[in-house]
Amino acid sequence: MKPYLFDHLAAVEDVIRDGPFGLIVDVDGTIAPIAPSPELAKVAPGCARQLRVLSRLLPLVAAISGRPAREARRMVGLPSVVYMGNHGIERWERRRVVTDAAAAGFRAPIRKALRRLQATVDSPGVKIEDKGITLSIHYREAANCETARKVALAAARSVAVGEGLRVTEGRMVVEIRPPVEIDKGTAVMRLIGDYGIGSAVYLGDDMTDVDAFAALRRWRKVGAGKSLSIAVVSAESPELLFKETDAFANGVADVERFLTWLVRRWPKADGPSWKD
Ligand SMILES: [Mg+2]
Repeated sequence: MKPYLFDHLAAVEDVIRDGPFGLIVDVDGTIAPIAPSPELAKVAPGCARQLRVLSRLLPLVAAISGRPAREARRMVGLPSVVYMGNHGIERWERRRVVTDAAAAGFRAPIRKALRRLQATVDSPGVKIEDKGITLSIHYREAANCETARKVALAAARSVAVGEGLRVTEGRMVVEIRPPVEIDKGTAVMRLIGDYGIGSAVYLGDDMTDVDAFAALRRWRKVGAGKSLSIAVVSAESPELLFKETDAFANGVADVERFLTWLVRRWPKADGPSWKD
């Protein structure tokens, strides 16, 4: 069992000391409580408030989401935060979305897959979400989630195979993505490189965050930087979520408490030397 975040703050301090320090958060389930349907989800006001302060104090505060970058930007609403969307395929830069060039070549197959899904998936409580360069099939509102998951997976696989696309899974969602080597792990490493980050804390709640947890662990192992990954847990959390993490927090409420702790510790006299 991994330690509880608030029993592990000395390790967080240790990471922060070796900056420049970057804070990277997932959005849904991490700073925004899970809603019955994705369009109803909202960032917890307390999280947004603390992220606003932190984004002015730190060299990097980033939000990485499975949602389109534009939507992540709209939800969090802070211009000083860096946004990566569609699991890192998109980045919000200078008020516009920049899509990875390799993935952008798969727009037409994604459109085709969307039309085929719309024609074949017709099940109560199952929703197809068009995210531009990726697609999601949400089944949170289905009467029987396990059956709905199987239906969604089978449909996704059957349309993805013909178009050369890949299928992944998250919390009550099946996703169709371009077959490019981009995930939250590569996204995190790109941010670390671009912002010259020496230490990072990452918070995430879903299987797609495991790529980020693993990438940060590898980065630390080779001695390139210091990192600490925090699994934001709920009753839905799969066992695998914990494999690559260093600590756990209980839901969005604990994330808000942690962000508040980060803000409060900052003005202390023993602040990290990299800030000077
Ligand atoms: Mg999430």
